Amino acid sequence: MSAQEWESLCDGCGKCCLSKLIDEDTDELYFTNIACVLLNSKSCQCSDYQHRFAKVPDCVKITLDDIEVFHWLPPSCAYKRLIEGKSLPAWHPLLHAGKHSEMHKRSASVRGKVVCETQLNGPSQNYIVRWPIDECE
Ligand code: SF4
Ligand code: SF4
Repeated sequence: MSAQEWESLCDGCGKCCLSKLIDEDTDELYFTNIACVLLNSKSCQCSDYQHRFAKVPDCVKITLDDIEVFHWLPPSCAYKRLIEGKSLPAWHPLLHAGKHSEMHKRSASVRGKVVCETQLNGPSQNYIVRWPIDECE
């Protein structure tokens, strides 16, 4: 797969740009609706993709070589589904001529559902949400 093909697999949902919490006792993963400071909450895109690693040091590049990354990706993520042998969700942009509208219409992206990490009002635990891990076909 070429780099361009790999990039095109990304649906642009923005869920991987949310903060996650791990329960130290159970290792259970929890998503929050806290968005990275660079995430555009309307387009669901990184606002400085080219320089993201310089600006957000813990931003992670997703590659097939780094299998550890996959456990914290949401079930709808095309990369995670690829390694699990699953098909793309019905709203995936690749199935809609590259358009993201079906994804947003089905509420499969973070649009309108997140708060920027710079605008929190209380501890991260208060922002735990289920929707990023709910299956969304
Ligand atoms: S969760 Fe997966 S498909 Fe969605 S934006 Fe992140 S990398 Fe792309
Ligand atoms: S730097 Fe960009 S790609 Fe990385 S987590 Fe933040 S918004 Fe997402």
